[in-house]
Amino acid sequence: MTKATPPVMPLSRPYSYGTALLFGLISLGALVGLPTYAYFYDYTWLDWSMFGLLYLLTGLGITVGYHRLMAHRSFDCPNWVKAGLLIAGGLALENSVLKWASDHIRHHAQCDQEADPYNAQRGFWYSHCGWIFFSDPYADEKYASRLRQDAVVMWQHRYYLPIVLSGLALPFLVGFLSNGWVGGTGCFLLAGLGRTFFVLNSTFCINSICHLWGRQPHSESDSSRDSWWVSLLTFGEGYHNYHHTYQSDYRNGPRWYNFDPSKWLIYGLSVAGLATALRRFESNT
Ligand SMILES: [Zn+2]
Ligand SMILES: [Zn+2]
Repeated sequence: MTKATPPVMPLSRPYSYGTALLFGLISLGALVGLPTYAYFYDYTWLDWSMFGLLYLLTGLGITVGYHRLMAHRSFDCPNWVKAGLLIAGGLALENSVLKWASDHIRHHAQCDQEADPYNAQRGFWYSHCGWIFFSDPYADEKYASRLRQDAVVMWQHRYYLPIVLSGLALPFLVGFLSNGWVGGTGCFLLAGLGRTFFVLNSTFCINSICHLWGRQPHSESDSSRDSWWVSLLTFGEGYHNYHHTYQSDYRNGPRWYNFDPSKWLIYGLSVAGLATALRRFESNT
């Protein structure tokens, strides 16, 4: 049965100017700076390789590290593996894992309600990226308290800024060493700003598209939906109706043929002895 959603109240929250400015600059760099550079110069194989490498690293850092490991505890791993995953996720400029995962736990607990941080009942643009432009009055310590007990989470929270900055500095440095300022600028635009913009939007698609359009084969208790094609852009997170129904399953796409690189990485880590206690709902294999 579909759970009744409360009427959506007019939004009266203070703007979050700092986040809006940061997101505006990244979008400007990706949508204007990136093609402008391509008009005058060409992106090199090195720029594209760095883009691909950092896209994979940071995207999987979010889905495997921030989402499936820390928000949902769908598997265990040694602290050094966890630290690696959380550094990779930190490079994506989606806030520290403490903030990201506590918001996400609240998203599941309060889905479609006023306290849902990316409430899809407010429409596509709000749930996609509009929510980051407003301060959030509903952040609640009860969603963060379990995460605060984790020393690796708190370590990542403390060093979040240098982690983020190194994700932007690294492509510049690699490009600069290859071809001076022109090379540094090109690699920074493509593998720094452009990559950040695309990974941000891939995460945003889960909160918008996967709560508005698609099938609900597993449950209609909230607005989550399965969109297999969104999985192609989001490392397997498009099977969002399954995920909302079986939150702590390490797979979002439970069938062997579902495109879910995040579950393949977790499974691969377990084969290598670097991940244990993989949680799955057996009836859904
Ligand atoms: Zn989730
Ligand atoms: Zn969701």
